[in-house]
Order: sequence, then structure tokens, then C-alpha cells
Amino acid sequence: MTSDKSVAVIGSGYVGTVLAACLADLGQSVIGVEIDPEKLELLNKGVAPFYEEGLETRLKSAIDSGRLFFTDDYHLAMDKTHVVFLCVDTPPGTNGHPNMSSVAAAAESIGAAMHEKHVIVTKSTVPVGSGNWLEATIESALPDGVDPDVICVVSNPEFLREGSAVEDFLHPDRIVVGGDNSDAVEKVSSVYEQVLAQSFDTGDPSRKPILVKTDRATAETIKYAANAFLATKISFINEIANICESLDADVEEVAHAIGLDSRIGPRFLNAGVGWGGSCFGKDTAALASMAREHGIEPLILDAVRRGNTNQRHAIVRKLQHHLRPLRGRRVTILGLAFKPGTDDTRDTPALTIIRSLEEKGAIIRASDPMVSELPGAEDVKVFADGIDAIRGADAVVLLTEWPEFLALDFAEVADLMRGRVIIDGRNALDPEAAIGAGLVYEGIGRYTPHR
Ligand code: NAD
Repeated sequence: MTSDKSVAVIGSGYVGTVLAACLADLGQSVIGVEIDPEKLELLNKGVAPFYEEGLETRLKSAIDSGRLFFTDDYHLAMDKTHVVFLCVDTPPGTNGHPNMSSVAAAAESIGAAMHEKHVIVTKSTVPVGSGNWLEATIESALPDGVDPDVICVVSNPEFLREGSAVEDFLHPDRIVVGGDNSDAVEKVSSVYEQVLAQSFDTGDPSRKPILVKTDRATAETIKYAANAFLATKISFINEIANICESLDADVEEVAHAIGLDSRIGPRFLNAGVGWGGSCFGKDTAALASMAREHGIEPLILDAVRRGNTNQRHAIVRKLQHHLRPLRGRRVTILGLAFKPGTDDTRDTPALTIIRSLEEKGAIIRASDPMVSELPGAEDVKVFADGIDAIRGADAVVLLTEWPEFLALDFAEVADLMRGRVIIDGRNALDPEAAIGAGLVYEGIGRYTPHR
């Protein structure tokens, strides 16, 4: 007999694989549905198709326990489960809208395989109001004779961060479940019983997650508002950093002091090269586009997005200032992943910066411990060890604060380089140590004598 606790997870990317592996590891029966045959083969062997700390161990143990397997067979998944999490990709589309083709295809496959009542849960980040469209899309694919009442769509946005996705999933700040049918909302909330219990186990009362039950449109909006606020906080401190640079003030001390105000808080106040990754760019674009469609000018969102693009170009301007001219100069980029702890390079600042430097004639080498090739800049030679990439460089630019880069010995770096310039795009290096080794250090809005 099908257990009420069996769930299907459609799409095995960063969100779906973490969800499937963690729920199964906590004792639930889970069927993952994935259409990419290569990923499917890896997943069923317990191999994660991307790097995320703690994921592969959970994936392996869940598969070995028999509580998790992956398939491309929607009929099998729908027959054995009653709650279906939709975790497929929603990449940037046109005019700020996300591309919903994977969601549409998955919805049609779900509908075609549906015979009895299911709760379909959108974890993919979808424009507000998509729940209605999704119900209609599933309905249009239902087999003849199946009552459309079998469909119930609930929104349960995901807030995990790549680089700490397993930890974030197991110990969330909040779980948001939005729907207009209270039974369905309860059913989805109950899937999280073990996650909530596991979070209580930490013994830290400040880590107690809050379950937010709301309507569907509000849940969909919460996801966009959360990402927009985080992106705003980063663009804000970057603007303050740029102001600090012209006023000879130090943004690190400014951020520390303003962050001590409990109304502001210390997190997401790290000045640097700005945000990247698969979510902030597309989600702020989507929210701005939804606002415009309803006659609201998204002044803050537009500024946040423009500020982030400018921040990437600021790195290029700093290099131009120090290396003038850039043509023929050797620049080493440390870090291609959009942040440490992941091998994800979607919308990574490194790509914008590398392309701009190459246009200006610079010769680029790069290093990243998890990325061996940067899509869009395949010509760039990538070294696993930072030291190999630094040899002969006129300038070194830190773009991802991987621990191995922060541990570099500046005396060795200075010996290997042809030039002297270190640009710290994450304000993560020790300026005094760099300057002490005879290097010219420049961070983002950090006061240093060389600036
Ligand atoms: P992803 O691209 O890593 O994974 C999507 C997966 O879905 C892929 O493996 C793809 O092959 C599969 N897929 C596509 N169409 C399918 C279909 N019809 N049937 C079955 N599988 C299919 O995407 P992701 O980063 O996991 O993001 C998924 C969603 O979650 C997006 O909407 C994203 O905005 C949102 N989100 C992502 C993150 C994040 O940090 N990555 C965080 C929160 C929310």
C-alpha cells in the first residue's frame, strides 16, 4: 500500500537532489524523477552530479537503505506517491521573466500520469500566480475521465544556499507553505515533521525554525521578496564601499559598526564583487518585471541590479588603473564558482570580468578547486592549485573566497608573480600580510595606503 509519507521529487538539480536525499535520509520514502539520463545513472549509484558538502554521504545511505531511488518514469512516481515536489529549473527567460518550459513539460508529464488525488508542490521559484497556470497545465494533460479535482497545487519555496545546502535544508530559519486548501497545506507541512524535529535537536533555541502557513500567491511572493532583500543588502554595502573609497574611509569597519545595530544585523554586509549564482539575478529581474506589468516602477530593484553589474566592472577598472594598459598583461583569477562550497558557475562574476579583461587584451589564467572549465570562457586555462595559476602573473584577482586561496603564502605569491598587484574582490585577504610581502594590495572600499 502507498504510504501517505511517500513523496516524489521532480528534477534532481541542486534543490531536488538535496530535498530527495535529506528527506530519505530522515526516514521518508522518496522517488526522484529526472530526465537527464547521465544524471540519473550517477544518482542511482549514489553519486551527486554536483558538489555540495554532506550531500553524497546522505544520498548513498538513502539509496542503500532502499528509501530513495531515481527514475525517469512519471507513471511509476505518480502511482507510488501522493505529494509531488516540483524542483525543475526556471532559468532566465526574456524580458525578466523566467523560462518556464521545464515547469510546463514536468506539469504535462505529471498530468498525463495522474489518476488519483495528488498535492503538487512548487519548490521551483515561479512568478506569482503560477499556481493557477500550473493547475490548468496539469489539467489539460489529464487522461480522459480523470476528475480535475485530483489536482491541488501548493507553494513551498526553497531558501537553501548553495555551498551550505544540506545544512540549510536540515536547519532552516523558516518553512513556508502556501495554499488555498488547508488539507493540502497540512499534508505538505507534515512532510517536514522530521526536518522540524531534527532542527529542534540542535539544542540551540535561536535555530528553531518557524513554519509559515499562508495562501499560495503570498508564498510565491515571499521567495522573491527574500532574494530581493538579500541582493539589496549586498548592493547597498557595495555602494557604501565605493563611497568609502572616495572618502578614504574603511567599509569593513563601517559594515561591522552598522551591523551591530540589531535592526540591521551583521550578515550580508560583505562588500565585494557582488552577487552571482542562479537565483538573485533572475529573481530580482522577475520581480521587477512583475512590478512593471502592474504599473509599479521597481526603483530599488533596478538600482540593486545596476549596482551589481557596475561592481563587476569596478574590478576591471582597478586592474586598468594598476596595469595600464591591460593589453598583453597576465591576470590570474582565483575563483570561478560564484561562491565557495559549490562548483556552480551560473551568473558568476568571474565570467563577466574575464570577458571584459580579454576584450581589453589581457591574458587570463584561473584557478578553482572545484571548477575545471568555465562555460562561456572555455579558452581560459584553469588550474586546480592556485599557485600554478599565479606563476608569472602581473596581477592576481581573488573572486571566490575558497579557504585554500585565503591560506596562500604571500611571500611565495610575490616570488612567483611577475608583477605586484593583488585585487581582493571579496575583502577576504589580509592586507597587511600582502603589503608586508611587497605586494600592492587593493580591496573593495577597504582603506589601504596603496589605494
Ligand atoms: P538545476 O538546473 O540544478 O536542476 C533542475 C533539474 O531538473 C535538472 O537536473 C533537470 O535535468 C531537471 N529537469 C528539467 N526538466 C525536467 C522534467 N520535465 N522532468 C524531470 N526533471 C527535469 O536547478 P536548481 O538550481 O536545483 O533550481 C531548481 C529551482 O529551484 C529553480 O526554480 C530555482 O530558481 C529554485 N531555487 C534554486 C536554489 C539554488 O540555490 N540553486 C535555491 C532556491 C530555489
